[in-house]
Amino acid sequence: MIEKRWIAETLFDDLGLRMSYWADKVICDTRTGHQHLVLFEQPFFGKMLMLDGATQITERDEFIYQEMMSHVPVLAHGHARDVLVIGGGDCGIAKEVLKHKAVERLTQVEIDPAIIAFSKKHFPEFTRPVFADKRFESVIGDGMQYVQRTKRRFDVIIVDSTDPMGPGKILFSEKFYAACKRCLNRGGVLVTQNGVPIFQPRELAASVTRFRRLFADGACYVAAVPTYVGGHLAIGWASDDRGLRHTSVKTLAARYRKAGSFSTKYWTPEVHAAAFALPRFIADLVAKAKPR
Ligand code: SAM
Repeated sequence: MIEKRWIAETLFDDLGLRMSYWADKVICDTRTGHQHLVLFEQPFFGKMLMLDGATQITERDEFIYQEMMSHVPVLAHGHARDVLVIGGGDCGIAKEVLKHKAVERLTQVEIDPAIIAFSKKHFPEFTRPVFADKRFESVIGDGMQYVQRTKRRFDVIIVDSTDPMGPGKILFSEKFYAACKRCLNRGGVLVTQNGVPIFQPRELAASVTRFRRLFADGACYVAAVPTYVGGHLAIGWASDDRGLRHTSVKTLAARYRKAGSFSTKYWTPEVHAAAFALPRFIADLVAKAKPR
């Protein structure tokens, strides 16, 4: 029998709020070795994936997160050849990064092999082009250990992680950011999934403080993702090149044309530049984040 039920996102239980989604069909409800995975069919958002009670991806609005997490660092950098994704097992970010012809190698380090196997089955629109691309390398392992040990160097590191709990917690630590810096090429950039500032202000301030202890420039930019409930999603930004964050619309447009003007549904050169303009309450949070 097809199971139909309401499914609640429990990420903000401590704030006394839950967002509930009607599931026409629960496709999968299981515990992997690392986390609790629920995949269901939602009448508006299509297939929705939750891990440990937090929404990860939906068919309807995934493009916003994937495009802003990938095209912003790659096009701001301007000549990224080696890209590292930490987490990202659904392969949505990898699919976007590989649209950049100048990217020669993309390595994705995902801790949970079940997420990849599962995405191959349920999100083939992401995984198929990615696994068919010779530039793609999939590593199963802990992102923390990978950045601590690898001898490779990257131009862009994208941390497509779960929230700071369970296996994702370490990916918000200063030790992790320091290890990322160690394996960034000169002028490289690190971006991180950094939660919804109205509900998770401390997490954002803590990350930006850590960036600023380690990098010349630490900040965030924003995107509005309907299923990351709370208005703005903050995407953390760290680089030793202070100029990257201020790349002009004209330069971004030229780089995008050179990259092949692939189709996007959210990213434009103007949206890219504007994403760094922060609403006052977020700007204040970021301004308060000072190195010790
Ligand atoms: N778009 C999503 C979001 O922010 O809601 C993130 C999606 S992606 C599915 C997150 C992935 O990070 C998960 O597949 C999880 O297994 C992986 N992950 C969590 N902790 C990790 C770690 N320490 N090392 C590598 N991958 C990790």
